[in-house]
Amino acid sequence: MALRVDNLTKTYGDTTALSEVSFEVPDGKFAVVLGRSGAGKSTLLRILNGLTEPTSGSVYLDGEAVTNSRSDVGMVFQQHNLVEELSAYDNALTGTLNRTGFVRSLFNRQPVDDRELALEALDTVGLLDESGQKVSSMSGGQQQRVGIARALVQQPALLLADEPVASLDPSSAETVMEYLRETAETRNLTTLASLHQVNIAREYGEQFVGLKEGDVVFDGPREELTAAV
Ligand code: ADP
Ligand code: ADP
Repeated sequence: MALRVDNLTKTYGDTTALSEVSFEVPDGKFAVVLGRSGAGKSTLLRILNGLTEPTSGSVYLDGEAVTNSRSDVGMVFQQHNLVEELSAYDNALTGTLNRTGFVRSLFNRQPVDDRELALEALDTVGLLDESGQKVSSMSGGQQQRVGIARALVQQPALLLADEPVASLDPSSAETVMEYLRETAETRNLTTLASLHQVNIAREYGEQFVGLKEGDVVFDGPREELTAAV
């Protein structure tokens, strides 16, 4: 789905985390929000995910206003937030809780297609053979790929990734970015990842939104991305 962010402002007391932020991401594109620590990236993603209320402004998905937390917005976290003692498969399956609501999932048996979705998502991130492995025994990069799989099980219309590679070594970071890009492409899934590393952003992003102290200082394709951000 096409994402439109319109004039978002968020203040925390005297701190302006976002100041009239506007940009659009076309359907199926892999966009990167680039900015240093404190630029407002997390605040933006949390608003897009409905976890934080904006002070003013609006978010639209395919022209429809997003007013609160939506089950079709998937999120990948920096610290992946997985259940370490469960397998990759069981963690992926928890993505269905976000989709169907916790209570419904508790009282309904898992339909077969949820299992298929979980295996398909693990396959997408190259972890089908490791699906039975405990997350605690996996590398940081593999854990983050399970985090992506869990978000995919939610069948999102928009995938958000908040600093998905910030705590990974360079090689694992590249693998995770590669899977994010590939997923956006093969599933035509609009994806917005926040990053602070310009080099990684440049390599994998298709569209860039540069944030600096809550202001959009850049909005354009790779060719126009300069060191200004
Ligand atoms: P609330 O006031 O809604 O209870 P919190 O103060 O608990 O919110 O913070 C919500 C989230 O924002 C937490 O994850 C917290 O770590 C983070 N947070 C709080 N203050 C700051 C800050 N100054 N800078 C960045 N993140 C913060
Ligand atoms: P980034 O993700 O780019 O590091 P953030 O969105 O976390 O940026 O923070 C943007 C600004 O808003 C910072 O000045 C931060 O301290 C402030 N901030 C973020 N969350 C909170 C919060 N819950 N309470 C107070 N200030 C916050």
